Amino acid sequence: MKKVNFTKALIEGQWQDDVTLTLDDHGMITAITSGSPAPADRVSGYALPGLANVHSHAFQRAMAGLAEYRTSNSDSFWSWRDVMYRFAQKLTPEDLATIAAQLYLEMVTAGYTSVAEFHYLHHQPGGAPYDNPAEMSDAIVAAATDVGLNLTHLPVLYQASGFGGAPLSDAQARFGHTTEAYLRLWDSLAGRMKPGQNLGVAFHSLRAVTPEAIDTVTAHVPQKAPLHIHIAEQMKEVDDCLAWSGQRPVEWLLDHHPLSSRWCLVHATHLTSTETTALANTGAVAGLCPTTEANLGDGFFPLQEYLAQNGAIAIGSDSHISVSPIEEIRLLDYGQRLKYQRRNLHATPDHPHSGDWLYGQALRGGALATEQKTGVLAVGQQADIITLDPASPLLVGTPDRHLIDRFIFSGNRSPVKDVMVRGRWQVRDYTHPGACEITARFTKTMEKLVNLLD
Ligand SMILES: [Zn+2]
Repeated sequence: MKKVNFTKALIEGQWQDDVTLTLDDHGMITAITSGSPAPADRVSGYALPGLANVHSHAFQRAMAGLAEYRTSNSDSFWSWRDVMYRFAQKLTPEDLATIAAQLYLEMVTAGYTSVAEFHYLHHQPGGAPYDNPAEMSDAIVAAATDVGLNLTHLPVLYQASGFGGAPLSDAQARFGHTTEAYLRLWDSLAGRMKPGQNLGVAFHSLRAVTPEAIDTVTAHVPQKAPLHIHIAEQMKEVDDCLAWSGQRPVEWLLDHHPLSSRWCLVHATHLTSTETTALANTGAVAGLCPTTEANLGDGFFPLQEYLAQNGAIAIGSDSHISVSPIEEIRLLDYGQRLKYQRRNLHATPDHPHSGDWLYGQALRGGALATEQKTGVLAVGQQADIITLDPASPLLVGTPDRHLIDRFIFSGNRSPVKDVMVRGRWQVRDYTHPGACEITARFTKTMEKLVNLLD
């Protein structure tokens, strides 16, 4: 058991002064008091819950910014995917562990306290499994363990290159499993999770798995395991799904599976009004990745309409062209402001502050999509906490009600000063103790990989 005291903390949505949290040996909050400084581990900072990053492909961190050149007169998501596939062929398990550690270091330093890793790079180049079929998953688990970031590991089922079970291409051979082999992998991973880690399922997309496989896997795994899927990111996917089934992707999923808060629909960019309403009513989380969706030219999620119907959202950094919760939330809001030529669209009379409101929504959805007891500072919850620097020029003199708005909408230097994950400090005074060693390893790996890229 230990106690930690903060200058100010956001307790169940309200800022309180001189807050002391009591934590048990597993990093869970067992008591909260406020109003008097305690002789505890005293932290000068404004404490609030850390965010979950609900959509990550860790290996893509190493190619961030390296696909920003013209390859044809019609560059798109699909031409970017070709570059990504070529890059994915180069990586060894050691490369993946090194890249993921650097990425997770950047995440925790930026203020994410959990990541959901949507992991599909399973096999050797050419598609043969490694001697240990979980070797690439083990690299992800090791990286999260090294850095101290909570991990929801989502091994991906990937079986087809298009709707109707079209065979995988050579470039996709590293991703594929039969349903039986996937379930063996899943079962073997269930015993490998460490404290702060849990296991869910990712279906790559409706184009990459069959309806039968979704049924079989969903029936096999525990009822609480989170279920993630890429969906309706691009109009080509919508059109192909219509040609295959007569329904749009989200429409099809709503019709064929009982969606609930254990589902996270990643992107869900292209929705009709009917789909938007129906999806919001299920309680499923829309896993939005604003910087990647902008980078890939995906389109705009109908945020205004969806939030108005109490739809749940969370944020992810996906391809990692940005690793900043501030930038994800800022861009999510700015996209809608530009689209509707208005401001503060999503705030409500009860929650009039845009930054505060959207950050709170992302906390709530992040906890659901990761199935972790995170996203709020309360008894019985994980001590997943970030502190904002009260000495930051971005925050000095800020009234409590504007603190999160100012955190999200001002400046370019993050005021995230300290980060605690499940009761353990991973970042103190802007620094992670393993940063130098992790980045030195990453530098060596990148020197090798960049030369292989062209
Ligand atoms: Zn993705």
